[in-house]
Amino acid sequence: MMTAGTKILRAPELTVKALGLKPDGAPALEPHTCTFCGEPIAVGALCGKLEVGATFMDDAYLTSREKPGWLCGFCLALKPKRFMDNTQQAFITSSAVFKFGRTENRKWLLENLPEPPFVIVSSDTNSQHMIWKTPVSRSRDVLYLRIGWRMFPIRMPIVRHLVMQMPSIQQRVESSARKRGKSTLYHPFLSAEPFVADMNFGRIKTNVLAVLNEEERAFLNEFGPGEVWAACVLLSPKKAVEPETINIQ
Ligand SMILES: [Zn+2]
Repeated sequence: MMTAGTKILRAPELTVKALGLKPDGAPALEPHTCTFCGEPIAVGALCGKLEVGATFMDDAYLTSREKPGWLCGFCLALKPKRFMDNTQQAFITSSAVFKFGRTENRKWLLENLPEPPFVIVSSDTNSQHMIWKTPVSRSRDVLYLRIGWRMFPIRMPIVRHLVMQMPSIQQRVESSARKRGKSTLYHPFLSAEPFVADMNFGRIKTNVLAVLNEEERAFLNEFGPGEVWAACVLLSPKKAVEPETINIQ
């Protein structure tokens, strides 16, 4: 059995803290499982019955088929639609929720990663429940990015290594080009967005492949979708801009 000291911090708990909210509900009379985040609800812990309207579309993503469903105090506190609507693109720490929709803001946060723990979410359609099951990042070296319903781990040391290598790669691509001039090559990939449907995602540009040595090719082949995404954000020509925080009452 888990004790308070070994309890894993979940995204809803971190978000409630960041927004200055309190867990909601009434003490449980019997044990349940939170239908949203999957956290066990012990007898006496705050919780509430799940009541969903006709527009609720996320049944497939619930963690429990218990009827009626129950929500832990944290998921219950975050249930009002305004919390979901305002955290579609968000970088959440234990003290603030930052805007995360623009490349400029994403770049600033990746360059100035706050003290962990934090939660990173980016919806890919309207009104998605983003927070429920997103893993909490506990280190500045391994981030968990959630885009829509997909999770992308990001090993930051390899991303930072590529950022450092990029000027040398750029220089080689420029000197091998038929037309001399400043290159507009910012990153080595054909596509910057981690959409599984994009056939070019994760593929390396031909003119880059041509100048890489074997070790560099092997290194780039290790990049997963999240790492390609993070490298493209950090190598974007856009200037990093400190994001505003999101305050929801
Ligand atoms: Zn919950």
